[in-house]
Amino acid sequence: MDIEEFRKRGYETIDRICKYYQDLEKYDVLSKVKPGYLKEVLPKEAPEEPEPWENIQSDIETKIIPGITHWQSPNFFAYFPANSSFPSILGDMYSDMFNVIGFNWLSSPACTELESIVLDWMGKLVGLDQKFSSDGKGGGVIQGTASEATLVTLLAARYRVLEEYKAKGADEEKLRTISTRLIAYGSDQTHISFKKATMITYTRFRALSTDNNFSLCGETVKQEIEKDIANGLIPFYIVGTIGTTNSAAIDKITDIVDAIKGTNIWLHIDAAYAGSALICPEYKYLLEGINQADSFNFNMHKGLLTNFDCSCLWIKEREYLIGALSTNPDYLKNSASESGMVLDFRDWQIPLGRRFRALKIWFVLRTYGAKGLREHVMKGHKLADRFKNEIQQHPDLFVIPIIPNFGLVNFYVKSNNSSKNSNELTEMVYNRLNESGKVFLTQTEMRGQNIIRFAPGSPLTTERHIDQACELLLKITQEVLCDINL
Ligand code: PLP
Repeated sequence: MDIEEFRKRGYETIDRICKYYQDLEKYDVLSKVKPGYLKEVLPKEAPEEPEPWENIQSDIETKIIPGITHWQSPNFFAYFPANSSFPSILGDMYSDMFNVIGFNWLSSPACTELESIVLDWMGKLVGLDQKFSSDGKGGGVIQGTASEATLVTLLAARYRVLEEYKAKGADEEKLRTISTRLIAYGSDQTHISFKKATMITYTRFRALSTDNNFSLCGETVKQEIEKDIANGLIPFYIVGTIGTTNSAAIDKITDIVDAIKGTNIWLHIDAAYAGSALICPEYKYLLEGINQADSFNFNMHKGLLTNFDCSCLWIKEREYLIGALSTNPDYLKNSASESGMVLDFRDWQIPLGRRFRALKIWFVLRTYGAKGLREHVMKGHKLADRFKNEIQQHPDLFVIPIIPNFGLVNFYVKSNNSSKNSNELTEMVYNRLNESGKVFLTQTEMRGQNIIRFAPGSPLTTERHIDQACELLLKITQEVLCDINL
């Protein structure tokens, strides 16, 4: 493909992208293909000879789109929202244009410097303490996912605690023994990526029980820590969550801070989804706890119109992250790094290479402004409220067991003496909703109760889509009840 053909095909591709967004509502939200569908329609080997672009383009329509679950659909209410925007897509196009592998400052100064600047901007919008800013000892960095943020902060915490023992005279052998006594904590609602981080690092961990609101409380943390210390373990890391995956519950962060006072436990806040809401005045009350943590993370790619991947991590003392992850091979040595005047983000993450993701944040922030992003967040929450209010009109059919937080509504279907219990009914309604193709929702289980999760957030979703989803839910629930009572 030469430059003139790229120009032609590029314009055509943009036209196709625009058509996709205009037509989104026409697609079934959830793909209906069967496992292995693509293997049946694609050749067994890569082509030996070049193929005309027309053939490649038409395969997008005929072979790929049928296997797409449409995350950008206005009727996508599953998981948590993860929405694109046109400024973000354009930002990624520029990133693809430069295609820099910005592992250190020298490899592309703009890539590193813009990332620091936009994360400082975002930190201020959220209301993070100045200690999280790159002007001091801290700073922000883009990770691919919240899972990576948890893993790297766990490593930073381990480095910090081992450095403390090193300073007291522990040699390498002793440090290895000490590391087997380390223990990390989350709650029974913490995202599974925390468990994965402890599996990767072979770290002992405990999931602490939560209260009736599914929040982790300071008292539980205090008791467990005391017990573990008495048993010779070394507590060193805890995750507090703002907006858990199951129910958007909020851990009691200020109480957890009190519980770990006087220890060397690293407090990481996982606000993967709910963090986006912190740019709104309604949620600033949460900052008191967050600002006492060692690290804070949220996914701009979930709630702030920035395309995947874009997980923002801030840390108060970057020396621990860098200490845990830095290597200094001869082939990467350069005078800028040695001057100490620059940041080299390769030392803040697991991989070496990294994309120029700051461009899309920069474009999004400048195109929408903080005001536009706040409006987007609150619109999603208002639509969730509309859904909640509608299903509350039917107390004979539905139960909302937890007060909705951050635009996530959890509900289940009541049994009302039918031959099926509430879990079975909820499962049946859930399956039929998704089989309809008209909406896509996900489910979970909380303390033995099947739950359907409803999380709107697409910029294309309007009140009409919420009303249609409510009508569909009502119709399907009545059909299910009718079928089993026959
Ligand atoms: N933490 C929470 C609270 C989440 O809800 C999720 C995913 O939804 C994650 C972590 C993991 O996110 P990621 O896919 O960015 O690793």
